[in-house]
Amino acid sequence: MTERVAVLGSGIAGAAAALRLAQGGVAPVWISGAPRQGFKPGEHLGAAALSLLKALGSDTLLRAEVHREAHGTYSAWGSALLGERNAIVQLEGAPVVLDRCAFEAALSAQAIAAGVQQIQRDVVDVRVEDQAWRLDLGDGAVTASFVFDATGRKALVASKFSRRFQADRLTCQYAIFDAPNGITPRPVTLIEAEERGWWYLSVLADRRAVVNFYTDADLPGFENSALAQQAARTKAISAFLSDYDYQTCGPTRRIAANSTWIAPAIGAGWTAIGDAAAAFDPLSSHGMTTALWTAIEATEAFLARDRKQMQAYAESVAQGVQDYLIDRTRVYAQEQRWRDSPFWARRGKRHHPDDIQAAAI
Ligand SMILES: Cc1cc2nc3c(=O)[nH]c(=O)nc-3n(C[C@H](O)[C@H](O)[C@H](O)COP(=O)(O)OP(=O)(O)OC[C@H]3O[C@@H](n4cnc5c(N)ncnc54)[C@H](O)[C@@H]3O)c2cc1C
Repeated sequence: MTERVAVLGSGIAGAAAALRLAQGGVAPVWISGAPRQGFKPGEHLGAAALSLLKALGSDTLLRAEVHREAHGTYSAWGSALLGERNAIVQLEGAPVVLDRCAFEAALSAQAIAAGVQQIQRDVVDVRVEDQAWRLDLGDGAVTASFVFDATGRKALVASKFSRRFQADRLTCQYAIFDAPNGITPRPVTLIEAEERGWWYLSVLADRRAVVNFYTDADLPGFENSALAQQAARTKAISAFLSDYDYQTCGPTRRIAANSTWIAPAIGAGWTAIGDAAAAFDPLSSHGMTTALWTAIEATEAFLARDRKQMQAYAESVAQGVQDYLIDRTRVYAQEQRWRDSPFWARRGKRHHPDDIQAAAI
């Protein structure tokens, strides 16, 4: 059978993998999912991603006016006082606040220009038939000898053929705010902890602000329509919203933000990349960097036809998850004001291998 490689999923991991494979001379079929409209949350691109984008030849995409450099992040975490983390001390360059949809569209266009064949359909079923993958698209099918699973937390292939783990049930409610008075707001990112979870606000390049509230899906939350009223109970975030007369300009939406991972992240004829391999708490700002890193590492191992390199990739993902879980506990432990409330008490516990086994789903 002739070699046919498929990449599933149109996020950053899928686009980067499709692009890298084409650059390496193996243009894949990219089944990128049915087109979806609307805002995609997750805009803070960490500085560590800059060298990865350079390796892909994609760093110039960040110069588009729809993105902005992120020079100031302030957080009220562990105290009501806002602390500043300034980007000028980061020698690799400033983090970037992205227009996610625009960035993903530009990366996709680069992959297509490199020779990738894109099919904008959802894979509805996947199975192995005659030692090849059969990817069912509903009214047709694609066969492939190797699959890169970049379908995000869904992990369409990986969750079927490997074990999936979950460390928490974090969920995010978010809404977009606009400032009708025309004043240019300070381009900041704010993080603020409270008893039930934590808040995040980031000013986008077009002056709108995205506001997120994070808590656990099984804890009492609030009605979606109440996000603006609930934001008014915060200190730093509500002060910022009222300084610029920000008003909600779209519905409140909810999206999963839990920590999940697949172990091992590779198997016979497949590898998981991006959130399909390991999805982190957005507090870490690691998600997009990990999506790029896993896409590059896994495609390099594939292009080298090196099983040991692919195995080393899976081990690096597993080690990265262990390191992340330790860091996550330490970061949440910095907030002690509500340590008896369910959200914070859960995060005070240390993870060790037994917990992780118990968390398998
Ligand atoms: C609320 C929130 C805020 C975040 N904030 C940040 C942040 O500030 N900084 C940061 O670095 N990270 C952040 N993240 C994490 C970051 O968004 C993810 O890590 C990143 O999107 C992972 O990229 P991906 O390509 O692996 O997956 P995704 O972006 O989830 O893409 C998966 C793709 O697979 C497609 N797909 C799914 N099922 C199928 C199917 N059956 N067939 C075909 N295609 C399919 C989907 O349509 C989607 O396009 C945030 C996440 C959340 C939830």
